[in-house]
Amino acid sequence: MITRTMLAPPTPAVLPETLSANFSEFDLIRQFFVRPTQHTTLSIGDDGALLTPTPGHELVVSTDLLVEGTHFFPDADPFDIGWKALAVNVSDMAAMGATPRWATLAAVLPAPTFPWLEAFSRGFFACAESFNVDLIGGDTTRGPRTFCVTILGEVPAGQALRRDGAKLGDMIWVSGTPGRAALGLAHLQGRAAAIQPPLDTGQLEQCLIALHRPQPRVALGLALRGLASAAIDISDGLLADLGHILAASAGTAQLQIPHLPPEGFARDSYLAGGDDYELIFTAPTEHSETIAALATTLDLPLTCIGKITGQSMANGNTKNGSLGKLPENALVILDASGQIITPTRRGFDHFK
Ligand code: ADP
Ligand code: MG
Repeated sequence: MITRTMLAPPTPAVLPETLSANFSEFDLIRQFFVRPTQHTTLSIGDDGALLTPTPGHELVVSTDLLVEGTHFFPDADPFDIGWKALAVNVSDMAAMGATPRWATLAAVLPAPTFPWLEAFSRGFFACAESFNVDLIGGDTTRGPRTFCVTILGEVPAGQALRRDGAKLGDMIWVSGTPGRAALGLAHLQGRAAAIQPPLDTGQLEQCLIALHRPQPRVALGLALRGLASAAIDISDGLLADLGHILAASAGTAQLQIPHLPPEGFARDSYLAGGDDYELIFTAPTEHSETIAALATTLDLPLTCIGKITGQSMANGNTKNGSLGKLPENALVILDASGQIITPTRRGFDHFK
């Protein structure tokens, strides 16, 4: 075991250019992963961290993996990988209406080099500082590059935004511009010819930012407590993730999306591109004006894209959430002229 004093950050003078043989696992943790914490009773350096939850709050816990070759290219900028490893977890807190608080990081690293880890660590802590998250522990092992982050957040008891709360008549909303990350990825993979009309320089830049530095919608998630009936973040694609809300809430929906791109790759990306980390949420119509005003306050587009048209049974606060299967025709999508659209795909699934 190592003690907290052993994990005090070293002075910059002892920084190695590359990690030498006598640079130990604990030197590595100390160098790259120990930072001052804001709200943690006992952090990195013991067998476990000690946290003091805020009275009257529930803890929200979520885990996400980032695997080289699956979630990021081997030559991707390590700062971006560090940012995204935490950001996708922070996004889950946003989708629950929770305040992100603490995270652990399990890192599997091939023979690490100083510049790579230094940039990864800067990216990770840039995100941690932006969203006030303390890194409180983890594990470090040699192997194919993989990161697993577990995040903990807090929400006043009973106020979490769940997937199973959508009700008949609720409006369906989405934040930001879904599809950008998929367009950025297509550009990087040399599939840009599929994007018609082609992206201009400014649009391309926004798409690459969406892909590499997703901005978790924490402020939106917090503001939606008491307004939204259900919420989810878009990691696998708008249709797929909205499908999870419908399955959990036993609902059907009709979408008519303002400014949906014309048929083609841009439309497919909007409907089924993953990795955007925007929020989809449902809310009773009585809150529509408040939500529209929220868009101005947060300086974030919030678009009403449809409504819940049916519900097969009273949805209950199921104890285990829902991984139920969505019936074929539960989601009808109309174009601007009211014609039914049949999307070419609905979203991403690691096992399909
Ligand atoms: P243990 O022997 O209890 O598994 P370790 O020796 O693996 O502990 O880790 C020592 C301390 O460093 C622990 O407090 C652990 O939580 C922390 N730690 C290990 N790897 C990381 C990491 N990648 N990021 C943050 N903290 C880490
Ligand atoms: Mg360990």
